[in-house]
Amino acid sequence: AAQQQQAAAPKIVVAAPNVTVTNGTIHSKYDYSTTKVHKLPNGQYRAEPVTKTYEFATSSTVPRLGVMLVGWGGNNGSTLTASIIANRRSLAWETREGVQTANYYGSLVMASTVKLGVDAEDATKEVFVPLHDMLPMVHPNDFVLGGWDISGHNLADAMDRARVLDPDLRRQVRDEMRALKPLPSVYYPDFIAANQEDRADNVISGTDKQAHLEQVRRDMREFKAAHGLDKLVILWTANTERFAEVQTGVNDTADNILAAIRRSEAEIAPSTIFAVASILEGHTFINGSPQNTFVPGVLELAERHRVHLGGDDFKSGQTKVKSVIVDFLVNAGIKPLSIASYNHLGNNDGKNLSEHKQFRSKEISKSSVVDDMVAANHILYDAKTNEHPDHVVVIKYVPAVGDSKRALDEYYNEIFMGGRNTLSMFNTCEDSLLASPLIIDLVVLGELLSRVTYKTETMREFDSLHAVLSPLSYMLKAPLVPQGTPVINSLPRQRAGLEAFLRALVGLPVNNEANLEWKCF
Ligand code: NAD
Repeated sequence: AAQQQQAAAPKIVVAAPNVTVTNGTIHSKYDYSTTKVHKLPNGQYRAEPVTKTYEFATSSTVPRLGVMLVGWGGNNGSTLTASIIANRRSLAWETREGVQTANYYGSLVMASTVKLGVDAEDATKEVFVPLHDMLPMVHPNDFVLGGWDISGHNLADAMDRARVLDPDLRRQVRDEMRALKPLPSVYYPDFIAANQEDRADNVISGTDKQAHLEQVRRDMREFKAAHGLDKLVILWTANTERFAEVQTGVNDTADNILAAIRRSEAEIAPSTIFAVASILEGHTFINGSPQNTFVPGVLELAERHRVHLGGDDFKSGQTKVKSVIVDFLVNAGIKPLSIASYNHLGNNDGKNLSEHKQFRSKEISKSSVVDDMVAANHILYDAKTNEHPDHVVVIKYVPAVGDSKRALDEYYNEIFMGGRNTLSMFNTCEDSLLASPLIIDLVVLGELLSRVTYKTETMREFDSLHAVLSPLSYMLKAPLVPQGTPVINSLPRQRAGLEAFLRALVGLPVNNEANLEWKCF
């Protein structure tokens, strides 16, 4: 493992007195400028610029990383695994359209660029770099993949069952995929749809939840040791569970949840067992599904153990587009009156969501996505009456379309002088090809953020970032944020926020869209 570790020379060298790189650590002293607003009794706002200095210390040692997926044999898990193998081996395969080569399209980290600055020789030219080069990050080709599934299919059979990737690609990765087999998992039938029962042939036996927790912890330790890994990230991409009831004395505090697991309490979900196991083992845990895995007891436990969490629910298709369209409409001064969203899909996720309790988790996750954008514009929406657009979400299971999800959205908007505008969207694509790159982004950025420490003027020691990793919001439908802080759903704001934060870590100011060099010369 030690050989694999590399104190990678950063691709971007910042030439500034506030930035140093020593002993594999990037130190940046960063002046964070914001505006404090005082609301005066006469209705005026007094805006006061304030600057606070933060110090960041980010380890530039890229670890040998294990990625353990819960639900490894599902559409996302099998698609991600085959795609990483294809990228690692630079595979090419025949499709109806011609020869296709492996890529990481759809991954913010691997396939998008950020503006680093303007060319030193010619200020009219902007310089863009891959987001992956901003800081030393794990490359997905180097992920060591493993995980659990209640279905015992090996990954080759799981990939065929998923019917996502082209046959010629499947043929080329089949042998390597066949050797991969998910570990038996924790299965409490009450939490996922009854129609999943015939898949559950690979489960940890018994009903003792404490024993399940210990088995999962052992699995993590054994996987780490067997592959000589420095670090693990655990990610839930298993079926959507129903919400767990938050009960006093059961899952409301860290101590209570540990005791509740020992008593095998009914409201402890499988996903919560995995989250608790990850926290106790010190591994970042990410929840890609909508259910409330992170009950208050889990959040407290993560803070106590200084372990990072990210969630909830991959923001892959319809919701992602919605968080762009509504941002555009509301910020253009156009008032969405209703947003009606309809989906149908035919994969196993759709089958599971055809039961009411699991659909309800998804509905909750999808429903609050416009709230912050609406609340930001008090010209269009009256805050006193909590005015907001009508917003409904429908999901139907249509087996014939398989993984190729259909999403229809109608935005009905009020424009100038009482006029009306109807925007209609129809989006079709393979759901798992949207979600898999998000898993990569969540893992790569989640791992990076766990290497970051910071210090303010009032702190004596460097500390890790808050247990809840809000910078991952871009990839998540119902972003989990530290308690009491605002949720940002707008996709452009999420991206700008992430970019600004990565820049802060290397001591660079935010990209200033005033672009004065093009206006005042
Ligand atoms: P899938 O049904 O194909 O895969 C889920 C896998 O989890 C299955 O193989 C199943 O056997 C397994 N599983 C169920 N319970 C388990 C448990 N307790 N332990 C281990 N494995 C278990 O679904 P998918 O299309 O891969 O999606 C996975 C999850 O991601 C779903 O919850 C879905 O709602 C969520 N999600 C997907 C997308 C997307 O695909 N675009 C977007 C947002 C969220």
